[in-house]
Amino acid sequence: MLGCGNRTWPDLARARQELALYPGFELMHGACPPRRDGTPGGDEALDRAGLAAGLVVGKTLHRRPADWKRHDKRAGSASCPAMAAEIAALLKAGVHVEGLALGSLVRSDEPNRASGTGHMVGLLRKFGVRVRWVPAPDAMAQALALRVYSARCGQERDPDDLDITRAHGGPRGAPFAPSWMILNPALEARRRATALRQSDPGQADTIEQEAWAAYVAAFMAEMRQSYRENRTAWRELLARGRVVLRCRCQDPARCHRVLLRERILPALGAVDIGELPVAERRQLTIPGA
Ligand SMILES: [Zn+2]
Repeated sequence: MLGCGNRTWPDLARARQELALYPGFELMHGACPPRRDGTPGGDEALDRAGLAAGLVVGKTLHRRPADWKRHDKRAGSASCPAMAAEIAALLKAGVHVEGLALGSLVRSDEPNRASGTGHMVGLLRKFGVRVRWVPAPDAMAQALALRVYSARCGQERDPDDLDITRAHGGPRGAPFAPSWMILNPALEARRRATALRQSDPGQADTIEQEAWAAYVAAFMAEMRQSYRENRTAWRELLARGRVVLRCRCQDPARCHRVLLRERILPALGAVDIGELPVAERRQLTIPGA
């Protein structure tokens, strides 16, 4: 499958949903880098969705980066001839190709001209390739929506940090933190799994998976209750432009910050931007970014 998209596509949840419609497909994209503030483009969003879906770089996930430094913003169209030749070769070899385009097909500054995505869609259609087009979300809604990041608590500070741990979150973080009643058994299971990790990794995995499943159900129920009881705190959070949800858990995939970022807050209109990698965090605190 050939994925392409605009320079900005912050809706990772949507990219995951769209990619899930193509089970068993390999993914190829132009590897357009994320913007400086970390907001991913269509390529990056599909890349992350592909990795989450278990695609393997170089095997089932194929990145075809253009020379972004040399061509700057025009690299998208500049990379087209190379990708066009590759697609033509695939089609000739009898490979089934489909297109998935995220975002606007015209340029925002010149609506009469095709965007990079628009060019790619035109090209694919010329080849007779079926293309599924997912239009860009309403620009105003997108601009007003809370952008949700998550990160591990650490040395780095971000002006939009919100500590959502039960132990240190204080009154601001408490409405989004798990209660000790569900947290303690989860931490206890994690300790047992860690102790068994060397001698019985299979059993350790089972303990972690079962504890996580129970934790997810319990935490979702607590957040439903919190939403009813702390409406002001939720409203204030959703009214912000940006937030970095912080917790101490090492693995973001097994932490409540991911449930808030990926599932709960997007259901209330927020946009999931992703987990901040430690090394990139400093860049992201550039004033105005
Ligand atoms: Zn956590």
